This record gives sequence, C-alpha cells and structure tokens, in this order.
Amino acid sequence: MRTIPTVLVVEDESAIAELIAVNLRHNGFKPIWAMDSTGAQRELDDSVPDLILLDWMLPGESGLTLAKRWRADPRLKAVPLIMLTARGDEVDRVAGLDAGADDYIVKPFSTKELLARIRAVFRRRTPESLGKPISLGGLTLDPETHRVTFHGQPLKLGPTEFKLLHYFMGHAERVHSRGQLLDKVWGDHVYIEERTVDVHVKRLRESMAGAGAMVETVRGAGYRFTVKPEQAVVASA
Ligand code: CA
Repeated sequence: MRTIPTVLVVEDESAIAELIAVNLRHNGFKPIWAMDSTGAQRELDDSVPDLILLDWMLPGESGLTLAKRWRADPRLKAVPLIMLTARGDEVDRVAGLDAGADDYIVKPFSTKELLARIRAVFRRRTPESLGKPISLGGLTLDPETHRVTFHGQPLKLGPTEFKLLHYFMGHAERVHSRGQLLDKVWGDHVYIEERTVDVHVKRLRESMAGAGAMVETVRGAGYRFTVKPEQAVVASA
C-alpha cells in the first residue's frame, strides 16, 4: 500500500519547526523534528527519511557541516536535502548547493513556496524510466520516442496516460491499487487524490480505442493490464 513520505526537519527554532510540521502533515507528509545535529543524527541512525529539511544555523554543528557529512554517507547520500537559511548571499547559497543540497530556501519563506520546492525536489529525484520499447498484445510503446501503436496504428495519449500505460505494460498481469499507481506513476503525489487515477485510466482506455479492454478494473483492488482481457475475466470470476 501507499506509504506516507517522511521528512526530517532539522530546525532549532520551535515556532518555525512547528509551522513546517503542521504544513507537511496537512499535505500528506510525516514530519520528524530534530532540534540539532545530535537529534538529527539519532533520527537518521534509526531510519532514512524521504527528504531532509535542514536549517543552516544550528546550535553545535552547522547545517552546512551536516549536509557535507550526510552527502558522504552511502546510506544517506541519495536522500533529497533542502537547506533553510536566513543567509541570502550568493556565496552562501553556492556553498549550500556545493555541500550537496538539492535546493535552498531563504528565510522568511512562505509555506506555499516551501511545499512547492519540496514537490519539485521529489519530481527531480524520481528517476526517468526510459528504456526499450515494450510490445504486448499488438500494442507497442516506445519510451524513447513516446510513441504508442496498436497493430501498427498510432494512438494519441496524453503525458499522464502515456506514463500510466508505460507502467502497466512494464508490470503486466499484475493488480495495482490506486495508491500504488499514484506512487509509481505520479511519484509526486502530494495533492493528488486516488480518484484522479480513475479519471486517467478512463482517458487512457478511451485513447486506446480497441486496445482499451486490456486495462481492466479489478473490483475492490485496482487495475490490471492484461493481454487477454476476456480470459482474465473468466479466470477471476
Ligand atoms: Ca536556526
């Protein structure tokens, strides 16, 4: 099932930490608060979060020092990191990015901006799954050219429908819940509700014309791409 992304917030000012935590929670994240480097390290030793928000000015070790250390840690180096800083000078921003931060936010910031940047970082971190063309049941999808054909006839798909079909074809004959599809296809699902999946599946089927039946609804479970829809219905009945 869908997991809630965790965000480690390393911030010594409790008012700011609380404001961030409330907004994260409200937008589908699970915030974990650490007040300083010791607390942050303890949390990181315990579990690896999906993203780190790191204040620059902390008691004890600075955010910059921590960013450098975590970027050198094989366990943590892939975790997206956004630095929070009151320092807006270019030299400091460059130092933050050089230390391995994916982005930085200058205080005071709006929570809208913070969330937008978090989403952007997640988007950039979601790997592009380019690869070889997939052919199943007369349907061919080419990830490189973004072309889809059904028995040689081109199909016109929107970008989300294309990604959805790509995922389905790469994981054919398996049932995927709406939550799993949101995680795998959208990746950045902060504001997206599960019924959005239904809307895009409907559009996908319509765009696929005669091939649409290959995207099956599995009652109470989600969706499945199958090359033999009619047999699968019999099998599951
Ligand atoms: Ca601070």
